[in-house]
Amino acid sequence: MSASAEPCIICVAITGSLPTKANNPAVPITIAEQIESTHEAFEAGASIAHCHMRDDEGRPTSDPERFARLKEGLERHCPGMIVQLSTGGRSGAGRERGGMLPLRPDMASLSVGSNNFPTRVYENPPDLVDWLAAEMLAHDIKPEIEAFDLSHIVQATRMAADGRLKGPLYVQFVMGVKNAMPADEAILEIYIATLKRLAPDALWCAAGIGPAQVQLNEWAIARGGHTRTGMEDNVRLDRDTLAPSNAALVRRAAVICERHQRPVATWQQARQMLGLRSVAV
Ligand SMILES: [Zn+2]
Repeated sequence: MSASAEPCIICVAITGSLPTKANNPAVPITIAEQIESTHEAFEAGASIAHCHMRDDEGRPTSDPERFARLKEGLERHCPGMIVQLSTGGRSGAGRERGGMLPLRPDMASLSVGSNNFPTRVYENPPDLVDWLAAEMLAHDIKPEIEAFDLSHIVQATRMAADGRLKGPLYVQFVMGVKNAMPADEAILEIYIATLKRLAPDALWCAAGIGPAQVQLNEWAIARGGHTRTGMEDNVRLDRDTLAPSNAALVRRAAVICERHQRPVATWQQARQMLGLRSVAV
């Protein structure tokens, strides 16, 4: 099997912290909407659901009780799908961000360094990063490392080498965030080469923000990586067209997979590749 025939894991980031119904009425906000939107995306080929939570006013929250209801609903309606909960910094401060980790989701996102975001600093101080990583180890949760910068890739490999993270690493390269790393193909190549050099057993995926989403899908799929799509990162199909659903964005990624002769990974394949616990469905 050539490297290009490796199944591609598609992650769908359904909601995020920022998009609203005003940006696109199809953005799922309530738990019921999130479950319905994820189910449709699952059927379109997504095997990981990357999840954020909103409160009754639509503001980001890390409320573990709400996350528990979403996780339960996804496990019932999308059996086998990998549930990944966000510990990102827009929904709470400090350890609040990891308050849902005792729910033992399959995966959780983990940022291991700081950088600028469009209007603020995305703060990930070393003691908080170490605490989140320790919670993930304690609860047998596979982290998805969110790399917004080259230093984050290096730091993740250090943490895996000294046992703060369990290998093999799964690292997501995020490009196109304003004031952080733009979508730049030559820099992506450096990211991939650095990860391969420092952690040869690591797997990687890539996500682009806004118009960079489809660009990063294309670049990652062509290079044998995995990829992320969904309304957290981008609410449009193109400049003039709103995406009708998360599933439509997943289908767009699946078409790119087909063009590059990459089968879309089933949830069983994705679990196996990521070394996750198997589930009976
Ligand atoms: Zn997120």
